[in-house]
Amino acid sequence: MALKSIIKPFYKFMNRLTYSSKFGVMMLLFAVPLVILLSKIFLSSSLELEQARLHNQGVETLQRSHALIGKLEQWRDIAILDFVSSDPEIKQLFEESTQALEQSLQQTEIYLRSEGQENGAMYLQKLQKRVNSPSIAAGMEGVSIEIMFDNVHRYIEEANDWQRQLAALYGLLGVQDQQTYSVMNLVLYDTGDAYESMARARVFGSFYLSSGFIDSSGIYVVDKTYANLDKESEKIAGKLSALLLTSGSTELSPDVFVKPLQGTLDIFDQQLIQVTSLDSNWRSYFNQIGTLRDQARETEAQWLFMAGRYFRDLEGQREQETLVLVALTLLLVVVMMLLFAGFFYSVKNTITRLVNSAEAVAGGDLDRVMQTQTRDELSLLGKALDHMREQLKARQVHLHQMSITDGLTGLHNRTHFDQVLEAEINKAVRKQYSVALILLDIDHFKSINDNFGHLAGDECLKFVAQLLKQFAKRASDTAARFGGEEFAIILPDSPVEDCFAIAEQFRESMQNSEIHYGDDVIKLTVSCGVTSVVPASLAAIPDLIGTADEALYEAKRSGRNRTVLRKPGEEPIPKHG
Ligand code: GH3
Ligand code: MG
Ligand code: MG
Repeated sequence: MALKSIIKPFYKFMNRLTYSSKFGVMMLLFAVPLVILLSKIFLSSSLELEQARLHNQGVETLQRSHALIGKLEQWRDIAILDFVSSDPEIKQLFEESTQALEQSLQQTEIYLRSEGQENGAMYLQKLQKRVNSPSIAAGMEGVSIEIMFDNVHRYIEEANDWQRQLAALYGLLGVQDQQTYSVMNLVLYDTGDAYESMARARVFGSFYLSSGFIDSSGIYVVDKTYANLDKESEKIAGKLSALLLTSGSTELSPDVFVKPLQGTLDIFDQQLIQVTSLDSNWRSYFNQIGTLRDQARETEAQWLFMAGRYFRDLEGQREQETLVLVALTLLLVVVMMLLFAGFFYSVKNTITRLVNSAEAVAGGDLDRVMQTQTRDELSLLGKALDHMREQLKARQVHLHQMSITDGLTGLHNRTHFDQVLEAEINKAVRKQYSVALILLDIDHFKSINDNFGHLAGDECLKFVAQLLKQFAKRASDTAARFGGEEFAIILPDSPVEDCFAIAEQFRESMQNSEIHYGDDVIKLTVSCGVTSVVPASLAAIPDLIGTADEALYEAKRSGRNRTVLRKPGEEPIPKHG
């Protein structure tokens, strides 16, 4: 009940619409949400695609900043050594390193500008100025070199900060893929301290080896650096193993990054802590740790390359997914529209067929079958309408039969007699043959009614009619009740003598018949008038009937129970039994 009352307003609404409007409304209701869905899919897919592109671009920027920071680290280490030493080789190294750093800064700046990263480019410009005028404060050996290191190392920390800002800007820290996410974190957050420790080992070691002595503060810093290296190496090895476990990757090996760290630790240990003479070659020491640092940087660059490959794959995948999704949805929309169109035309054509058939039936074509080409409810309507048509047809046939039949005798009535006579005369005019007419009248019928009653009279009329039928043998002969107790037979294309003979036979047959009504036995005679004409037109009809009537009158006048044959304009020939 509740459902019905909910549906009711919609039902009423639909009732008011034509089928075109109904389908239009339904199609809109389906098509509009589908199109909205389609555009939403398209939008979210293109957003995802855009995200993947951004990530890809971000990794490339990160790679460049990574290389730049590597150069900055190199420059930091040499800048400090250059400041505290008068070695011409270091001076040269410093100049080369500054040049390489400047070049890298400029290239990265150009790249960032081309990417629309104005803030990043401006940061690099600032960095460039600071690199050109390094503010390294001098002081007491051990203490001052640590202060110097921290001073210049600030640039690296700022650069690392900037790198993390870049990563955030490109959305690289929100990636879904666990392995890529861990690699990003490792590169951005966890390797910084390890590099710092390696750098301290290189700078301090080189300085002390070249100076040939370590003061108490220096020993403290060396100890701290050693402990840091140890700690960082363990920390990173742990993180890498965990990452390796979760990703199952064969491309990430913890050794590759941890090895340079441990190598640094070893060199630092052997040359600064275990060797007391301090006569080692500081240049070879400097280069050894530098090589290890470069190896670590190279490993990191490879990790970034892996992450970049992941984003490129993702981009391709998203592009394909978007294409497939959009194509599928479009296909769905098209199929839906086609289905609706098919549905609409199926209904529309069926209704049109039914309407046309109904119009034809209404116009009198009761043989027009009402058919549909569908197997739905409309085909049931078609069947019902066709049943109605057949019933109508049967009734019409019945009514027609009734309209041309005499109710009492079952013979054709006067109306039908007139129609048949007109048709036969027309045919005879065309084919030029004769039409004969026999008119019969029961003799003294009034007295039958008077003596036996009207019902008995009716029985007599029925008897005469039944007998008469047997004398109108040919298909073309028509027997009819002409009036009260008068009958007629139309006999086309028959010699008048034959017709006369038929009338005579009937008259004799009547004379010899007995009609039983209750206890009564009634005997009847009839008088017949026969005539025939080869008609020239329909105007022959009144003449034909008139002449037959005259012949009948003649038969009555000359004593009844006889047949008179008369051709138009001819004297009657009386015959009697
Ligand atoms: P005639 O020999 O001159 O033809 O004499 P008749 O008595 O037959 O002629 P008349 O015209 O005087 O009478 C015809 C009668 O036929 C009058 C009428 O009551 C009767 N009649 C006409 N139609 C019917 C009918 O359907 N049923 C009955 N029972 N009688 C009918
Ligand atoms: Mg009469
Ligand atoms: Mg009569």
